[in-house]
Amino acid sequence: MTSVTVIGLGLMGKALAGAFVRAGHLTTVWNRTAGKKVEGARHAADVAAAVAASPLVVVCVVNNDAVRQVVEQAGSLEGKVLVNLTNGTPSQAREVAALVAELGGGYVDGGIMAVPQMIAGPGALVLYSGSEKAFTEHRATLEVLAEARFMGEDAGAAALYDLALLSGMYGMFGGMYHAFAMVRAAGGDVREFAPMLTAWLSAMMAGAPEAAGEVVSGDYATEVSSLAMNQVAFPNFVEASEELGLRPDVLLPIQRLIDRAVAAGHGGDSLTRLVEMIKE
Ligand code: NDP
Repeated sequence: MTSVTVIGLGLMGKALAGAFVRAGHLTTVWNRTAGKKVEGARHAADVAAAVAASPLVVVCVVNNDAVRQVVEQAGSLEGKVLVNLTNGTPSQAREVAALVAELGGGYVDGGIMAVPQMIAGPGALVLYSGSEKAFTEHRATLEVLAEARFMGEDAGAAALYDLALLSGMYGMFGGMYHAFAMVRAAGGDVREFAPMLTAWLSAMMAGAPEAAGEVVSGDYATEVSSLAMNQVAFPNFVEASEELGLRPDVLLPIQRLIDRAVAAGHGGDSLTRLVEMIKE
């Protein structure tokens, strides 16, 4: 069974290391600040010792500046595969890939689509990109953490899809927070409202494949809900929120996109036309 090193014992790194230990891998860990422990793992004295301990080195620290600092302390990465599960941009991933290559290592970037409690459990997904050879070599070990999906040889691909998925999540969360604020400000019970909101959002998200088809074809003609109709309705959300003493900040960017689309002559099109307004 492959020995594995985990660098970074924050909330996520600890969950990753714990999963490797439980799966029976000889696991070595290192954290910048001493004192963070993972039961069953060997604690290395420094980065160089941690890297030397295993052919597979998983790094999960706060950001890619921290990753670079870690890599610079590693010395040689000859014969090692570094899997960087730190959140970052595609460009940052490519920069770290170049640095790792200079030090002789194989590089795989990763985006974790899970919270620490989901690691090694159902529903957890990690996106990977970079060296397919390195990924394939260590795939079985990485699958201890979560379903592993390889997104291509461009080291930035995993970060791109990670950030796209998180963009969808933050947009949805923004809407959820605003909806909760409206119901609470009106004296409603947010707990009773939550299942209604979940069902509504699930029903709406079922239209994602159809919307994707519109984006691919560029045909935004609709018999469902026109931008012009949405433009008329939108001030109601803003006005009602302000009457409740709430900031409409979450709603305004969407309103601006709708206004621009209608002003550009797309009032008869579906809401999916907004994908083009983001691009322009
Ligand atoms: P934490 O804030 O809990 O931990 C951050 C870790 O980074 C600590 O181990 C910290 O070490 C280390 N660190 C910070 N700066 C440096 C440095 N200069 N050199 C070496 N180590 C450093 O974050 P998480 O563990 O939650 O997140 C880690 C990564 O995982 C992030 O990129 C995050 O976006 C990603 N992620 C997290 C998820 C989550 O739900 N938590 C979900 C998906 C991805 P020290 O103890 O010394 O401060």
